[in-house]
Amino acid sequence: MTRRILIALLILLFSVVAVAAANRIVFLQLGLHIVQERVGLVPLRDEDRPARLQQLFTNAGCPQDHQQLQTTDSELPNVICTIRGSGPNAIVIGAHYDHHGGSGALDNWSGAAMLPILAESIGSVAMRHTLIFVAFGGKYHGASGSRVFMRNLTDDQKQHITAMINLDSLGLTMPRYWPDNGLVQPLQIAALNEHLPQLRAWQVDHEGLADTDVFRKAKIPSITIHSLGREGTDLLYVVHSREDTVKALDMRAYYETYQILSVFLAYLDQIDGSIRLGPSDIPMHDRMRQPGSHQHR
Ligand SMILES: [Zn+2]
Repeated sequence: MTRRILIALLILLFSVVAVAAANRIVFLQLGLHIVQERVGLVPLRDEDRPARLQQLFTNAGCPQDHQQLQTTDSELPNVICTIRGSGPNAIVIGAHYDHHGGSGALDNWSGAAMLPILAESIGSVAMRHTLIFVAFGGKYHGASGSRVFMRNLTDDQKQHITAMINLDSLGLTMPRYWPDNGLVQPLQIAALNEHLPQLRAWQVDHEGLADTDVFRKAKIPSITIHSLGREGTDLLYVVHSREDTVKALDMRAYYETYQILSVFLAYLDQIDGSIRLGPSDIPMHDRMRQPGSHQHR
């Protein structure tokens, strides 16, 4: 297994968030072939995915007593792994795992498999924030799973969630984000730190983006990272189609997404207190059309 500890010097070009001008961030960087192997083994039936995810979380160093299967309104439970931090606050990283076409390698095993990968990378170093990784089950691309997850939190627990990062359909191309709800600046700093281009906002017609809705309603800064947009092309044709298999994934783009997400999380962990919310008038998952978006079903 090739691993290396990555110690990155993060130079802050902007300092709206309350972090010192330069910070060392530390995480365990998994090699390309490990990441590739983890996302490549896609359980074809959704019912088989909770057990696989639990196994992957266990292998990632999240012990079984830190894991939970949370009952939802369908036979697909939420799979939760909690890695305790030293402080009172928490970051939620979520991805739905139910699928509707092909093997669902892109939509959304790519997001669900990224959870244990990040748990291993980030969770294996001392963090201030508690990291709550949730693979959303339930119906409608995890949306009901995310609602159940929120319903089971106390008001006090909700107040201590400083950020929610939703992962959906990663690795088709370089990542995009939607919406800007206060977390974009740290995300762009992460891309800069990895010498990658700045990420672009891109809203698509995809239910998975709605997994942030309940968090945004609770005034928690939230963002979806996806890869469903590129100028002049219709990348969404893969989603919910027979084409949605491992072959659709660009492993280099998936790996670069993993690198950005690792730095993003490590960086968010260093932000004390609450993150300032972005524009408050962002519509809940509306159906704005953009090049590359289409109506499905
Ligand atoms: Zn999705």
